[in-house]
Amino acid sequence: MSTDSEQSRVDALAAELKRLRERYCAGEPEVDDATYDAREDELRALLAARPDLTPVDNPLEQVGAAPRGGRRAIRHARPMLSLAKISPEAREAGVREFAARFPGQPLRVTPKLDGVSLSVVFEDGALSCVATRGDGTTGEDVTFPTGHVVTNLPRALPGVPGRAEVRGEAVMLGSVFAAYNAAHPDKPLANPRNACAGTLLQKDPEAPAAAGRVLRFFAFDAEGLAVAELRERGFVVPEVAVVTGADAVLEVIAGIEAARAENDFDIDGAVVRLDDERAYAATGNRASTPRGAVAVKLAAEERETILRGVAWEVGPGGKVVPRAVLDPVFVGGTTVSSATLANQEVLRARGVKVGMRVLVRRAGDVIPFVGGPAPGPQPDGVRDAVIPTHCPSCGTALEERGNSRELLCGNLDCPAQTLRRLQWWAGRAAADMEAVGGTWIARLHADGRLASPADFYALTVDDLLAYDGMGEVSSKRFVDSIERSKALGMRRALIGFGVRHAREGVAKRLALAGYERVEDVAAASAEELAAVKDIGDVVAASLVEYFGRPDVTAMLEQLRGHGVSLDVRDEDRPIAAAEASDTPLKGATVVVTGAIVHPDTAERVTRPAFVRLLERAGATSATSVSAATSFLITGDDVGAGKTAKAEKLEVPVVDQAAAWGWLREAGVA
Ligand SMILES: [Zn+2]
Repeated sequence: MSTDSEQSRVDALAAELKRLRERYCAGEPEVDDATYDAREDELRALLAARPDLTPVDNPLEQVGAAPRGGRRAIRHARPMLSLAKISPEAREAGVREFAARFPGQPLRVTPKLDGVSLSVVFEDGALSCVATRGDGTTGEDVTFPTGHVVTNLPRALPGVPGRAEVRGEAVMLGSVFAAYNAAHPDKPLANPRNACAGTLLQKDPEAPAAAGRVLRFFAFDAEGLAVAELRERGFVVPEVAVVTGADAVLEVIAGIEAARAENDFDIDGAVVRLDDERAYAATGNRASTPRGAVAVKLAAEERETILRGVAWEVGPGGKVVPRAVLDPVFVGGTTVSSATLANQEVLRARGVKVGMRVLVRRAGDVIPFVGGPAPGPQPDGVRDAVIPTHCPSCGTALEERGNSRELLCGNLDCPAQTLRRLQWWAGRAAADMEAVGGTWIARLHADGRLASPADFYALTVDDLLAYDGMGEVSSKRFVDSIERSKALGMRRALIGFGVRHAREGVAKRLALAGYERVEDVAAASAEELAAVKDIGDVVAASLVEYFGRPDVTAMLEQLRGHGVSLDVRDEDRPIAAAEASDTPLKGATVVVTGAIVHPDTAERVTRPAFVRLLERAGATSATSVSAATSFLITGDDVGAGKTAKAEKLEVPVVDQAAAWGWLREAGVA
């Protein structure tokens, strides 16, 4: 694909994911989980190859996920809605349109901090609980960690009766981030935003707090308490401007943007909202965003620095990728000394040379990248980056592939590739060896102790004790972590092999298609594999080529010999619909609408969970009613509009009570 078409595909996927997620959060998913996952996989793959195309508003990195297990979930008294967004390109038109909806009304403009949104609830003046935004409806209880790591949060509101809630953003200041990393060079934090989220989820928050890993809370909204009172109550409130009319709003935003570099925290935009609380409440909400407020996104922050050199690195798949080596520069809330250049075509197209003054761009969690030469005269003696002809690790002549002229080392025994593959195998998506760090893998690999994934399982505590910096406790943790990872199963093993073109979703699809063991996949022909839903000829050919290698066959035998599970796990199996008893659901195509409630517990059942039950009873679910629909199953609160189409197409409308009855008959509920 050309850069333009890649960019438009990334944009289209990002927009689609955002919409699908919003629909899902609104309880009306448009597509099934597998389709959603496939979209995410595709975007992840595109961005892995072209990190410089990462959208400012990257849906893969949003905190919009539902709360994780283990921590108490807290339902918000009113939803913590996300805001409609105006892109940097559409700023002027977007702000004018927004302001025109509320002529003459005072508008409040505040910087939008890039951190973690929190809801802080007080009861009769005492702090009662602190929760994250979560999915907007339900967040995670972080009251305990907040007490240790958020240093400036008032713990009481003396004299405020009843319930009061303060909403705002927790951030890690740039200076705190830099000081922490300087003191902990062995375990640096990746960036302030991730560090902030991670700090709030610490099980034992006292230690990080003592080590200086602390956060600041900025309040911007209140209920049961006037916003104007927040400051005198001890809250830190970001700079607020109240103005009227689009011109004044645009001027304030320009000021926020210009002052961006002076802040000790990252700003990714500005929030414009009706200042008058009653007017704001009266405007109500669109599907999942309030009408009376909008987020104006700032363009990725750009700073100037010197490009000192271009380093070429070998990835796990053998891609040799250029990386810019930069004079350190503080941009987008963090210090950057290295940035991606994607491939040699991007390097050429950007027109950057070694020794040049260049612009580095970074926003949010986006990987920093070099945008191009800085304007104005360039220093003397700039020179073109040298494009390697041979692999920097093994010296094999590189191949050039595709329009972007990617460089590829085709040597399967290339040490750099082997190392990256070992690190990938131990990583979270595959064997998930929690206590096995990348640096240790590199040391063991350099000493010839690790060459293939199977070698992990032969390591003993005594082997590790021979190393400086490895004590009894850490050696034991290391080996235990490897031991536990043996249960990984077929899907994760397939991911861990890192077969070229076979992204994470391929493993899931093979499991759903009924493959029971890695060896069954290895024995399948390209035709058989290509017959699996969503697996194309390229992926099928790549799998056949991979499993045809004698070293791979030997590795599978060794893994089995060490007791590593390569068999499908129950959760990855297809649903055994054939075992369900006969009911009208068997073989039916159904559409579900409205809120689904369990008949016994009266608890809300999520749409995907309900659809899974229907599938186990032998039904196929569709997202919209058509002539092919067997039933429209209606939950609570279904408007007449939802059933009109079904009635017109003479599709039977079935109440959820009847559907639950069938699920019972089928033996699945
Ligand atoms: Zn190589």
